[in-house]
Amino acid sequence: MTVKIHPTVDRGIQKGTDQFAGGTLRCQCVHDPVEVRVDAQVAFNHACGCTKCWKPADALFSVVGAVPRQSLAVTAHSEKLKVVDDKALIQRHACSACGTHLYGRIENKDHAFYGLDFIHTELSKDAGWDGPGFAAFVSSIIESGVPPSAMNEVRQTLRSKGLEPYDSLCPELMDILAIHAAKAKGTYLEV
Ligand SMILES: [Zn+2]
Ligand SMILES: [Zn+2]
Repeated sequence: MTVKIHPTVDRGIQKGTDQFAGGTLRCQCVHDPVEVRVDAQVAFNHACGCTKCWKPADALFSVVGAVPRQSLAVTAHSEKLKVVDDKALIQRHACSACGTHLYGRIENKDHAFYGLDFIHTELSKDAGWDGPGFAAFVSSIIESGVPPSAMNEVRQTLRSKGLEPYDSLCPELMDILAIHAAKAKGTYLEV
């Protein structure tokens, strides 16, 4: 049995093309799809095992990455969007008809990741997006019903695809969060 991580991982991860300037995301509605224009390449794109990110059918992981919020604009059928959970740190704006998450946004100005929106580049037909580079919150797939006995094979599959598995975010992002916290506490030491 082969582990299905995510369609864009299973068929081979694409590297982003130079000078790619972004593309248009569309929800899965056949009629009147919500459209979101993003004028940026995605950063920190990764496979995510958390239970809140939107995943395509049969995928164990979502693939999600960051873009500057000012690079993102809803260009069609914004009336169909609603926030999935307004208590969550990341406010995921989903199509109320098909359930697809178009973008997640952090509204807390004190958060280290404020200014970033989170998107699923598979919703865009434009070629040139940078594929995922690591896997985050891997252990959380157990919360979606994956048996713990399968985790070894899942982590091996991720590594074989070039995605280092982490049970939180990758070290670089965890450091950004810790630096932000250290600055707030006054314990940040700049060398
Ligand atoms: Zn839709
Ligand atoms: Zn997630």
